[in-house]
Amino acid sequence: MKWYTFSTSEIEKKLKTSITTGLTEKEAKKRFAKDGPNELQQEERMSAIIVFLAQFKDFMVLVLLIATLISGILGEYMDAIAIMLIVFVNGILGFLQERKAERSLQALKQLSSPKIQVLRNKEWITIPSREAVIGDIIRFSAGDRIGADVRLIDTKSLSVEESALTGESVPSQKNGATSLQGDHEPGDQENMCFMGTLVSNGKGTGIVIGTGMNTEMGKIAHLLKSEEGLQTPLQRRLEQLGKVLILVALLLTALVVAIGVIQGHDLYTMFLAGVSLAVAAIPEGLPAIVTIALALGVQKMIRRRAIVRKLPSVETLGCATVICSDKTGTLTQNKMTVTDVWSSGKSWQITGTGFELTGDFFNGNQPIEVDKAPALKQLLTFGVLCNNASIKFGDKKGRNEYQINGDPTEIALLIAGEKAGLSKGALQGSYQIRDEFPFDSERKMMSVLVRTSDNQEYVVTKGAPDVVLSRCDNILWNNRQSYLDDSRKNGVHQAVERMGSRALRTIAVAYRPLKKGERITSTFEAESNLTFIGLQGMIDPPRPEATESIRECQQAGIKTVMITGDHIVTAEAIARQLNMIPDNGKVLEGKTLASMSVEELEDVVDDVYVFARVSPEHKLKIVKALQNKGHVVAMTGDGVNDAPAIKAANIGISMGESGTDVARESSSLILSDDNFATIRAAIEEGRNIYENIRKFIRYLLASNVGEILVMLFAMLLALPLPLVPIQILWVNLVTDGLPAMALGVDSAEENVMKRAPRSTKEGIFSRGLGWKIISRGFLIGLVTISAFCIAYAESPENLVRAQTIAFSTLVMAQLIHVFDCRSERSVFHRNPFGNIYLVWAVISSVALLAIVVYYEPLQPIFHTTSLNVRECLLVLGMAALPTFALAGSHLFKNNKYKGQAIKHSSFK
Ligand code: ATP
Repeated sequence: MKWYTFSTSEIEKKLKTSITTGLTEKEAKKRFAKDGPNELQQEERMSAIIVFLAQFKDFMVLVLLIATLISGILGEYMDAIAIMLIVFVNGILGFLQERKAERSLQALKQLSSPKIQVLRNKEWITIPSREAVIGDIIRFSAGDRIGADVRLIDTKSLSVEESALTGESVPSQKNGATSLQGDHEPGDQENMCFMGTLVSNGKGTGIVIGTGMNTEMGKIAHLLKSEEGLQTPLQRRLEQLGKVLILVALLLTALVVAIGVIQGHDLYTMFLAGVSLAVAAIPEGLPAIVTIALALGVQKMIRRRAIVRKLPSVETLGCATVICSDKTGTLTQNKMTVTDVWSSGKSWQITGTGFELTGDFFNGNQPIEVDKAPALKQLLTFGVLCNNASIKFGDKKGRNEYQINGDPTEIALLIAGEKAGLSKGALQGSYQIRDEFPFDSERKMMSVLVRTSDNQEYVVTKGAPDVVLSRCDNILWNNRQSYLDDSRKNGVHQAVERMGSRALRTIAVAYRPLKKGERITSTFEAESNLTFIGLQGMIDPPRPEATESIRECQQAGIKTVMITGDHIVTAEAIARQLNMIPDNGKVLEGKTLASMSVEELEDVVDDVYVFARVSPEHKLKIVKALQNKGHVVAMTGDGVNDAPAIKAANIGISMGESGTDVARESSSLILSDDNFATIRAAIEEGRNIYENIRKFIRYLLASNVGEILVMLFAMLLALPLPLVPIQILWVNLVTDGLPAMALGVDSAEENVMKRAPRSTKEGIFSRGLGWKIISRGFLIGLVTISAFCIAYAESPENLVRAQTIAFSTLVMAQLIHVFDCRSERSVFHRNPFGNIYLVWAVISSVALLAIVVYYEPLQPIFHTTSLNVRECLLVLGMAALPTFALAGSHLFKNNKYKGQAIKHSSFK
């Protein structure tokens, strides 16, 4: 249907909706049930059965299965069935791990799914975009991604970037008032907007005419690029490492088999043992456990209000050396309150905190009536008119119950007016808003065109004082229009600085009466030849938790930098309150920054702690300069123009509450509460996730080294097989299973935020991990073979007993070693029972061991025999040796780890 050829009232009728009230919830539900969700169809997911079968596609597992089949045919039924069973259970474990990983990733995607603003039952509400239906009235503004195909109703300077649909990256101007006839391509349909396109400027409302696959985007959905890969650099490196490990495991296994055969072992037995060993030693569970650790860590982050959009950023978080943070709302509370007003050399104070609606006006200590101060009244009135915020009063409790909507700066102005009895509703009776030139962070201004009841039209502008002042020719001085000469300009500047030094954000208000019949054709024209009225200064207190978080970041070797559009004096005052600026710290202003090249900025950037009055475009320069200096940069942003900097940063951070869709889509991390403290929490979790991955890699690989070495030692010493194939496989099941997963969700070590950031170049085995794996693995192998030798020497005729002892020692050594892996230092540095999952994982593994050793029906299958107390003590003593011997030696050595702690007592 050619929707662009219909008028909006025709569409209203056709779609049985109303521009003024929207659909009712009931009707919307009905339409949702009929048309389905407003989303593009996703790719089919791999079916469960395929994921399960994929667990057995591994080459060595296939060899093992074939080998067992042969042994089954040759008459070793018991062994064959048991081995098959273990391989099957292993397959289930792998399957469950993969499913869990996939589910968690899926849940993550849902969390960052888009929202849409719709008019339902006369009220604007925000709903998940997938719930929008045909006939809904929706609205959007700069930075939003349009959630459905719409016929525009009302537009204000609306331009939309439609490259996702048309390939054209220059934004197209849109106008709801345009009527079109004939045939037009989507790119030329000026009164339409399409799902998936981006609002680059202005705002608009429209009627939804197409949802889901019935949109222009739906038609080309199959052409869309698939999602970016979710693999992290570490996962990729581990995949490569996995190949090397397979090779090493295979070579060592071949060596074991070869030596075994040379030593006179039966070829068939050695072959089966070799294949089992290869299956056990190949860390096939590693990728899935890494994914689970990442996914579970990420869920923990969600509980701390940080939503990860791109998994790789979890790793980068631990490497961050600089956080560049917006001020308003992230470091401050975004609960602005106008406390000071200035006009023509006079100043007034307003009482009241936060968004309370009551407060009094004073001039010094003198209470005043606003009606008797015309300049003040006009300043407050225009602040209320040039304003998109709203206060809605509850029906019953009058002024005690109210709901506030909008940008906090504008809410503050609205409330200042309320306190003087100048409510928006009442003012709109005598002033009609005819047009609007929306606020953007580049212009730092907003204007409206108002018409009074006696038909006089005005432009009313509010914005950053320096920019507003530059557009003014005159000033209202003692209620008379006067020329804005340098001394008066100076007077305004001084008032701004006085307010700024008290951390107040300042908003200037100006106006221009229009001549009869004058038409405004551009924003620039509207905001020219203005008459300056005065300033409103508002307080926005720092978030109490921000100071502590900044201090903790300093301790963690991470520098915090404030980047704000606010005035330099205000920004510096807040930064000082937050204790962000050290003695040698500098504050740099946007205009100085604009005149510098990236190279010039590099020379000073390390000393700058506050960038003030910056436009979003400057942020990119800051990111580049910091990165050139070797920093790993986390950068926050919320507006449409912040996207390039967020994308360029190593960790782009956007705001869940106040951010735009564009910023969110470019970011890798979303702060659902817009709070700086959440960045700190995310970094802590990021560091911990990486450490946890190191922990279980250490555990898994040391265990595997131990398993191979036991067999190798035995072959070299011409001993009988210390472990039979099924025992090897059983050990593998235990080690790859629960304890490793429990390590993956371990809590952070208490010094995790007291170390310098990890270098991005750091390999996974650095900081002594490789050595730990080999040495612990060697010791585990050594104590196991020693236990075997002792038992075998005692009664060589009872090989099953010696094997049971070796088997139990190997399992117990690994289960004790797992506690060692919780700390980079030694087992004595952490409460071994601190991780309850690990405790349960170990208890259940010990119970499983006890079952295969003591439960008689299983003994012939696992080639085991019951052990007496003395034998158990031998097992435990030998198994505990590696961990305690090394921990003891560690205690003697002076804590080597201290070298890692950083010397950040001050800021750098
Ligand atoms: P941050 O980057 O820390 O969030 P900010 O919110 O102060 O900074 P902007 O929103 O770009 O940055 O605002 C820059 C300046 O524009 C403010 O200092 C203020 O003077 C002015 N300003 C902010 N909001 C409005 C608005 N709604 N209407 C008019 N002017 C505004």
